Amino acid sequence: CGIVGYIGKRDVAPLLLEGLARLEYRGYDSAGMVITSPKSTGLKMVKAKGRVRDLEARVPKRFTGTTGIAHTRWATHGAPSDINSHPHMDPENKVAVVHNGIVDNAAELRAKLEADGVVFASETDTEVLTHLIARSQAETLEEKVREALKVVEGTYGIAVMHADFNDRIVVARNGSPVVLGIGEKEMLVASDIAALIAHTRQIVTLDDGEMATLKADEFRTYTTSGTLTTATPETVEWEA
Ligand code: GLU
Repeated sequence: CGIVGYIGKRDVAPLLLEGLARLEYRGYDSAGMVITSPKSTGLKMVKAKGRVRDLEARVPKRFTGTTGIAHTRWATHGAPSDINSHPHMDPENKVAVVHNGIVDNAAELRAKLEADGVVFASETDTEVLTHLIARSQAETLEEKVREALKVVEGTYGIAVMHADFNDRIVVARNGSPVVLGIGEKEMLVASDIAALIAHTRQIVTLDDGEMATLKADEFRTYTTSGTLTTATPETVEWEA
């Protein structure tokens, strides 16, 4: 339903909670986030069925970081629950995915992965993406995501983090909106500019079939087949 992500220098958890609150008007049944920082070796996750304030109440002390992705979920596959909330992570806690939309061939992909020994934590369609990315042998995070998306049918706006590539967030769009917010030594992503305009008015709207890599001080956009695309930020006017 709603996505917010940030990479920069600021304390990310409060920033993501505030972004999620700006997306609350869309309706949702649960919320969650994963964060990290350049010095950290792992990803930290918190999620909860219920409201953004229920998530906030669950955020542990010293839940600090400067990179993160967050989600409000409107369940399509799997009941609203803590476990089915996004982000979804692989068993080694390397990959975190938030997803808006529906993976149409999730049942088939899940059956294949399970036949290969993968144990699923949730009932969501989204979790197949997590395992596909985690199991990809490709060398870069961008290629891992691209490989996973090749076998996925359906709609998605996704944001992905990986513990071994924690200088970046990779995002992709197909049928579910993704907008980038371009800041000064910080980058944001969201499913809706409402979550961005408190931080920047410089916006890039991804097209279907487009992906982006966000680092703190740069971004690039490209197609799901890897060809670079040109994205010139537009300045949006918005009455807050
Ligand atoms: N299909 C996914 C799920 O049920 C994402 C739903 C959404 O867009 O929030 O978890």
